[in-house]
Amino acid sequence: KLSKRLQVIADRVTQGARVADIGSDHALLPVYLIQSGKCPTAIAGELNTGPFQAARRQTAEAGLKAVVQVRQGDGLSVLEPGEADTVTIAGMGGSLMADILEAGWRAGKLTGVTELVLQPNVGEDFVRRWLTGHAYVLRSERLIEEDGHLYEILHAHASADERSEQENGRVYDTSVISADLTEEVKLEWLYRMGPFLLREPSELLRKKWKFEIDKLARICKQLSLSDLDESRAKLTAYREEIRQLEEVLACL
Ligand code: SAM
Repeated sequence: KLSKRLQVIADRVTQGARVADIGSDHALLPVYLIQSGKCPTAIAGELNTGPFQAARRQTAEAGLKAVVQVRQGDGLSVLEPGEADTVTIAGMGGSLMADILEAGWRAGKLTGVTELVLQPNVGEDFVRRWLTGHAYVLRSERLIEEDGHLYEILHAHASADERSEQENGRVYDTSVISADLTEEVKLEWLYRMGPFLLREPSELLRKKWKFEIDKLARICKQLSLSDLDESRAKLTAYREEIRQLEEVLACL
């Protein structure tokens, strides 16, 4: 049985898609996608030898060596253009994820990839910005809690270049934040908090960002003990971030 987090990711993959799971570790997701009949073939990509071997073992034990190809390499370099319809990347930081997507994009590895299911552990805004800049449009977002951790699952589809700007404009509609903030600041919070998550704010969303406020407040407390100019500048910036965040949360 998959964890709740991996299940939410699996549920988003389109039936019949040829999937590539990058940073697959034990290849639990591709193995599930094949066993459940959702995907006809899968590629599990892994950079590191330990997890790569674990993925090979897992697919062999499941008797799926013929349909799950386990490949060792950095990010999307393991893919040939046109080999996958859906790419899933889960369980790494959003900044690394955006770097992997960018390198893959530049190398043409995302050719024909119409669907992305991404679960960044932190730095979700890096991923959302990358998507918007590369003709992928966010279709849904989920925020879930499992074992005391909060996870965001982002689901995006490729769009035609000329259409994507318009579609992304609709997704990142700043009017969802009615707080007294500039358009630029609102857009920044849309990228950080998630346009779909903000549209239907859950208790979990409030919890996530209240937790962030507490974290920032603790940093501010430390910084206020220092006389350094650099610390003062940071303190001002973090206090402003808290103020903005409180404004956004208050209007939800
Ligand atoms: N995707 C699985 C999940 O969500 O349960 C495993 C997540 S695990 C925390 C992250 C995996 O990404 C590790 O196995 C790590 O070796 C792999 N990884 C890190 N950087 C990578 C890269 N540049 N290319 C491919 N895999 C990478």
